[in-house]
Amino acid sequence: MSETIFSKIIRREIPADILYEDDQCLAFRDIDPKAPTHVLIIPKEPIASLAELQEEHQQLAGHLLLTAARLAEELGLDRGYRLITNCGEEGGQSVDHLHFHLMGGRPLSWPPG
Ligand code: 5GP
Repeated sequence: MSETIFSKIIRREIPADILYEDDQCLAFRDIDPKAPTHVLIIPKEPIASLAELQEEHQQLAGHLLLTAARLAEELGLDRGYRLITNCGEEGGQSVDHLHFHLMGGRPLSWPPG
């Protein structure tokens, strides 16, 4: 896949408000937050989207979800939160590097637009 802005964030070539990092993933605040808490959780491996996940990524996929849940707890989202991945053009994906949006801090309506 081609390089995205998120690869530059992983390599610290552009700044980001990074909340968590380990050997597999990175979590940082969204530059254009849509909720009081809006964090992106991404794999370091440049996987384009959820649709590109393969069997070999099972452990990584679970790790991303567990990381999101732990971050939600650390960030005090005890009243609830939402974890979203936009996939592809109609899914509203704008950056082609798999990412989960962790959003909370206000009541979130359903369904999304
Ligand atoms: P998508 O639309 O692909 O689901 O989500 C991409 C998200 O990345 C958007 O919410 C957007 O605000 C965020 N984003 C795009 N560029 C940057 C950036 O350079 N830094 C940060 N922190 N977030 C970004």
